[in-house]
Amino acid sequence: MKPREGKKPRAGRARRRLVVRQVECKTVLNRSSIGQYTMNCYTGCQHSCIYCYARFMQRFHPHPEPWGEFVDVKVNAPEALGRQLKRAKPGSVFVSSACDAWQPLERKWELTRECCRMLIEHGFRVNALTKNTLVLRDLDIFRPGLTQVGVTITTLDPRLAKLWEPAASSVEERCHVLQTARDAGLETAIMFGPLLPALSDGQDSLNALFERAAELDVDLIWVDAMNPRPRVWPSVGPFLRREFPELHDRYSRLLHDGETREAYVKELGDRVRKAARQHHLEGRLAGCP
Ligand code: SF4
Repeated sequence: MKPREGKKPRAGRARRRLVVRQVECKTVLNRSSIGQYTMNCYTGCQHSCIYCYARFMQRFHPHPEPWGEFVDVKVNAPEALGRQLKRAKPGSVFVSSACDAWQPLERKWELTRECCRMLIEHGFRVNALTKNTLVLRDLDIFRPGLTQVGVTITTLDPRLAKLWEPAASSVEERCHVLQTARDAGLETAIMFGPLLPALSDGQDSLNALFERAAELDVDLIWVDAMNPRPRVWPSVGPFLRREFPELHDRYSRLLHDGETREAYVKELGDRVRKAARQHHLEGRLAGCP
């Protein structure tokens, strides 16, 4: 990708500096093991979640700014996609795997919107997963049978969500996304993850999360344990020292000690299945630790 332009100040809730670069890409649709394809119109994400797994992108696209403080805008994404669609076989596209496709900059650039419109027009299925209400702007282009609208929720506690996901829409706003998408006749999904050890992964928290999923009548639910992906601990560790010092060593063991992690994931899976059973949602549980 080739940089085309300089910096802009960020206007956002987290009041962080944001460096925006306009770049050109050769491709925007990629083959993937997550779905048949993934599509990312941006590199970087303004939502700045503390646990973000997409930080690994910095290995392939090094930036001087920390994660959450840069976004590369692939300004020619629709043109690149147009070229790819001449040859690509229709399939499911996960939007997005390495950024939030509806992060605040998308309001101005409308790249995700245009690319989703093109995908659906060519018979591809768009599986959206976001933490931003901006996705509702695009209801007019989504099509039942060719679109699933999903949101990620890691906790129902607004204070915790604000700490861990400082610039994402509130949890209530994300639930509103699901309700609105469902009312529009679209399939809906929730990703509960990564659950926050000792903060949102207890039985009571899980029961409350599944109760909300039942109220929203979502079609599919995934649950994910926090993963020791590259570059996650350098963000999570100092954050815990600052906000939850009593949890620092516990998270460190869960993420880095194989035996501790194995036992944790098994127990978490048991609790998740129990909560799903309690709310008659076992059949909708598509992924569980
Ligand atoms: S919204 Fe997703 S991609 Fe963006 S910072 Fe949060 S976890 Fe990472």
